[in-house]
Order: sequence, then C-alpha cells, then structure tokens
Amino acid sequence: MNIHEYQAKEVLRSFGVPVPQGFPAMTIEEAAEAAGRLPGPVYVVKAQIHAGGRGKGKFKELAADAKGGVRLAKSFVDIRADAAEMLGNTLVTLQTGAAGKQVNRLYVEDGSEIEKEFYLSLLIDRATSRVSFVVSTEGGMDIEQVAHDTPEKIVTFSVDPATGIMPHHGRRVAKALGLEGELAKQAHALTQKLYTAFIAKDMEMLEINPLIVSRGGALKCLDAKLGFDSNALARHPDIAAMRDETEEDAKEIEASKYDLSYIALDGSIGCMVNGAGLAMATMDIIKFYGAEPANFLDVGGGATAEKVTAAFKIITSDPNVKGILVNIFGGIMRCDVIAEGVIAAVKEVGLKVPLVVRLEGTNVELGKKIIGESGLNVIAADDLDDAARKIVKAVGGGH
Ligand code: GDP
Ligand code: MN
Repeated sequence: MNIHEYQAKEVLRSFGVPVPQGFPAMTIEEAAEAAGRLPGPVYVVKAQIHAGGRGKGKFKELAADAKGGVRLAKSFVDIRADAAEMLGNTLVTLQTGAAGKQVNRLYVEDGSEIEKEFYLSLLIDRATSRVSFVVSTEGGMDIEQVAHDTPEKIVTFSVDPATGIMPHHGRRVAKALGLEGELAKQAHALTQKLYTAFIAKDMEMLEINPLIVSRGGALKCLDAKLGFDSNALARHPDIAAMRDETEEDAKEIEASKYDLSYIALDGSIGCMVNGAGLAMATMDIIKFYGAEPANFLDVGGGATAEKVTAAFKIITSDPNVKGILVNIFGGIMRCDVIAEGVIAAVKEVGLKVPLVVRLEGTNVELGKKIIGESGLNVIAADDLDDAARKIVKAVGGGH
C-alpha cells in the first residue's frame, strides 16, 4: 500500500527524520491557512497524488506552458491561485499514464533553498532477502535514467538483518554523497533513522528524491515516497488509516471486499483461477500462445458461488477484456460451485465476450453438466493447453 507525500513525511517526522514543515489542504482556503502557519517567505504548493514526476507534470485542463504539480509561491495571492489551478484538475506525469490523476489534496510546505540534490532509497532486495540502500549524488531527476546513463553514480549496499543498521552504513552513505564534517554526521543519523522507520513500519520501499543540502547546511528530505507491505498492515492501524482508496484501482478495491486476490494488468484476457500457482501458470500459458492476461485472480480454495459471481463481475467490468478464461482445479473448491457462480454472474451482468471454461477435479462431471445445460455460449476445454489456445484464438490474438 502506498500513501501520500504529506503522510509519508508525517511518518518520517515521527522517527526524527528531518523534513520541512508543512500542512495538507483540501481547499483553496485551507491552502492559504496552511501557509499562514508557516514562516515563509517562500512556500511550496504540492499536488498530492500517488505518483512521482509531479514537478515536470502537466495539467490536462491548463495551457501547455502552465506550471506543474510542484510550485514555489511567494505570496498568499500566489498560493490561492496555484491551489485554484491544481485542485480538481488532472495531473499527467511520467508515472500516471496518459489518463493522469485528479488532484484532490495539496501539501503546502515551507520552501527550502537548495544547495545540492541527492537520491536515497531503501527497498527490499529479493535476491539477497535484505534491505538495500540505493544512494546517488544525482538527485531530483529520474533515477531510472541515471541507472541507465551513468550507473557508476549509483551506490548500493545491503544491511545484514542479524546486525541491523551499523555506523559503517552511515559512513558509506556519507561517502557516496561526498559529505564531510557536520553534514557527514547528519548523514549518519539520517541513515540510522530511515532504516529504523523502514523496519518498524514494515515498509517495502522508502524513496527520498531529492534529499537536499539546504543553503543553511542541513540535510533534509524534500520529497518522500513510502510503500508498505499490505500483509503487515494489521500490525499498523495508524498506517492503514492513511489509505486513500481514490488512488487505487477500483477493481482491486472491489476484489479486496470479497477477499479475492486480484491484480489488474494491461492485457485482454480476463482470468479466473483458483490457487496462486495455477493463476500464474495460466497467465504464462496465455502469454505463451501470444496474448496478454488482463488480470491475476486467485478466487481461493474455499470460494462460494457469491465470491465467484463477484470475481466474474470484476473481470467483465474491465473494458480491455476481450475474452475470459476460467481455469479451475477443484480440490477443496468444487467444480459445481464454480459452474453455478459463473452462470449466476452471467445472468446478472451478461456475457459480451467469448468464455472458455476448463474444469478439472472434484465434481467435474456435475460442473460440466451444469454449464452444458445452462444454454450459455461457453467454449469447453479439455485441459489448460487446450483452454489457452481456444481463448487466444477466440480473441483473435496469438501467433
Ligand atoms: P516530484 O516531481 O513528484 O518528484 O516532486 P518533488 O517533491 O521531488 O519536487 C520536484 C522538484 O521541485 C524537486 O526536485 C526540487 O527541485 C523542487 N522543489 C521541491 N521543493 C522545493 C523547495 O522547497 N525549494 C526549491 N527551491 N525547490 C523545491
Ligand atoms: Mn521527487
């Protein structure tokens, strides 16, 4: 789960991490009030969306040469004007896709004078099963670009979970950033605090871009992006409360209500499968035959007809879906339950695209009979290979 920048800074602040002072605002009036509580004379008005690249982003509704989603302002008049231009409008950045994201919240922050901009992030490196630091002197820009053009400017190291964070990690960060003296000391403390926060809150990623040296000689986190392990949210009600559902895929939210493991993807073939492994294999074989899956969906072992109906509705609500593949291996899950769920769903939402069903396992004969007698236009498949071939053919894809 991701949270907004202002929330991320609140979390980091609680661990003693240096971040500029600021307040969130949902209206023009609140933005002006927020600025009134800051020292000034320079303020930053920042669009709060779950995507980066806001500074260089463009608002759909504004002229092409209008300012982006991160603006420096020097007066309350400017702050009101900026808030009016941003709130309710759609910001398109490199990370939002062409559709962009509507800006419903702003963050008004104390402006900083920037001496230097760095990049610093922590993430879980699955290859080493450790938390890794990624540090670069090339901050404030697209880190993927830096990694591509000048990989030697990126320093990475991981932390041994048995020892936890150690002074030498802080020294490595300071050295990578070319910091000495007082600033090196600040880097040591920052390294320690960021790692502590990362572990304490079960984060998956923590990205500071830019980390700055201010004109006054202080290290500060000017931007912050935090991602949390969704499976650990039960341990962190404070973080869970920061969830902003308007930033998430509507289909994924609906799926979570029914306890379905659903992840939206870009392809054209909707998949309904039981078991995560089988769901992955189903996606693989669809790709193998030359098409792309529209989603990952594991309906689980003990799915009810109601759950299957919900899953089917979610799949068909995706306009990119040109065909559906139901692939069920009935173990605990019974094929007749799946069949009834599919039929109930089709009766409710209709079926406008080809549907291939492959059933195997418990009560398979009954399941096939239910579908056969339903009068639905279902393409039956014998096995997974056959099913994948048929659905890819039905959507006119493949090679
Ligand atoms: P992003 O574009 O979504 O990554 O948003 P950031 O918060 O990183 O802001 C984009 C850029 O705006 C930063 O890289 C800075 O160069 C600039 N910026 C942000 N806050 C300040 C500030 O307080 N003072 C100054 N001078 N520039 C800022
Ligand atoms: Mn940034």
